[in-house]
Amino acid sequence: MQYKGRIIFEGYAIADVLAYEEANKSRQKNLDHGGDEYERFVYARQSALKTFDELYETALKTVGEEKAALFQTYRLMAEDTDFEDLVRSNINDGQTAEDAINNASKQIADSFAILDDEYMKQRAADVIEVGKNLINVLSGNNELVHLTKPTILICNDLAASVLMRMDRRFLKGLVLINGNENSHVAIFARTLELPTICGLNYFNLSSTHNGKTAIVDAIRGRLVIEPTEDELKEYKELEKEYLDEGSLLKKYIGKPTVTKDGVKLKIYTNIASALEIENVKNNDGEGIGLFRSEFIYLASKTYPTEGFQFNYYREVLEEMGKKEVVIRTIDIGADKEVAYFNLAKEENPALGLRSIRICRKQPDVFYTQLRALYRASVYGNLSIMIPMIVSIDEVKFFKDMIKKVKEDLKKDNIPFNDKVKVGIMIETPAAAIMSDDLAKHVDFFSIGTNDLSQYTLACDRLNPALNDTFNKKHYAIMRLIKMTVENAHKAGITCSMCGELARDPEMLPFLAAIHIDELSCSCAYVLKTRKALAEIDSKKVDISKYLDPK
Ligand code: PEP
Ligand code: MG
Repeated sequence: MQYKGRIIFEGYAIADVLAYEEANKSRQKNLDHGGDEYERFVYARQSALKTFDELYETALKTVGEEKAALFQTYRLMAEDTDFEDLVRSNINDGQTAEDAINNASKQIADSFAILDDEYMKQRAADVIEVGKNLINVLSGNNELVHLTKPTILICNDLAASVLMRMDRRFLKGLVLINGNENSHVAIFARTLELPTICGLNYFNLSSTHNGKTAIVDAIRGRLVIEPTEDELKEYKELEKEYLDEGSLLKKYIGKPTVTKDGVKLKIYTNIASALEIENVKNNDGEGIGLFRSEFIYLASKTYPTEGFQFNYYREVLEEMGKKEVVIRTIDIGADKEVAYFNLAKEENPALGLRSIRICRKQPDVFYTQLRALYRASVYGNLSIMIPMIVSIDEVKFFKDMIKKVKEDLKKDNIPFNDKVKVGIMIETPAAAIMSDDLAKHVDFFSIGTNDLSQYTLACDRLNPALNDTFNKKHYAIMRLIKMTVENAHKAGITCSMCGELARDPEMLPFLAAIHIDELSCSCAYVLKTRKALAEIDSKKVDISKYLDPK
């Protein structure tokens, strides 16, 4: 059985499952403790402080000082006098120590969370975590996960502290069913280079999975439970290839991307969070070709403000320095549902209100994002990319919006880079067919082959029943790609590709031969793609075999 998820850290893991559920923290007043709830709090805090110190020491040795500092923050929070006063006052109101701690940490977290600042929001999550740790002491549940053999841990979500306490020699892969890319545990998983996926829609955690063999495919974003013999064999081979390649590929770091016959390209990366920038750098990405900004919206409980987005984009741009960062504007809709957008249920969401179509219906939301982007533009090398274009009208709409944003920023004396490149995604047949006209209005194209395939072949890209029909290398798609690249070059603009085909080894000879300018793929594929391109003689490629059925 296979389940789809999003990738936090690339790699493969094959091992037995341990399904881990966080213990239920709600407890009634425990009369065995004689009712001195304040003393119980003091005891719990003492014990938790000891644990935080131990975790700090462990983390220092494994993930480094910067990340280990989290546990020092926990210590400071547990010792904070405001926290203690709130707990005492809750106890005086008749609450158990557990409830008093839980409510006090929530009160403090709420006061952090309302501040329009990502740092403080993270601190809100931290203070909740501190509260949980204290309550765990009282409930005798130390949240220890005992691993005694190679394991794939599957959980709804996980506290970073629980991960740090495991015997990670045995932890081979991690699946966070409801987790997301921005959590602490995701940061730790990346630092520990642990194949990890998150966001599995249709998987129900159950202890019946315990002991079953599973595969974490954190290359394609899949969890396979009880693989067949054939799947197991295939994955063992893939894992071996992956590990062998990984060590050989390191020599391509710092090398230019060039084919055997001297055609120069660039390999950029696709990311969904600022936290992946470390991976971009480790894998020598030459830029970011697709920053999926919708994950900021997906991770938020309400529309992210201009200030919040500005800080976020600024951080990404500053981290990347002179390297280009292509930020794609809102691509909500279809399979990316965001409740607070209040979109009506649709019969065919992939063909419905998504991306630029939502921006036209809710122009103030789009305005806020563009304004944040332009404000951030002075901090690095920003390009803006608009998805799901089907017409010149849509291009006129976003250009007018950008004009307004620039005029308003000028009026407000806020600096911005007037030369930010603005491009569009070519991911609908309409856009590819109209690419000669569209090219006159924008600075670049980026071909989104995932959607271009879905719309050209009339195949829902998420429907596993269509796997056989969903042939992304269909001649019709190859023809649209070639036509788009040619039209871009005729108009003097660049054309890149950021869909999954950009890293497909079988496609690389064709893409090099038609002179695509840039390929953008997940970090794990940068060096592999550079190596594959170095072995291609683009002059010797017979492109007709990609275009014409024989
Ligand atoms: C695409 O459609 O090819 C693409 C890169 O965008 P996404 O996969 O995010 O829809
Ligand atoms: Mg797309």
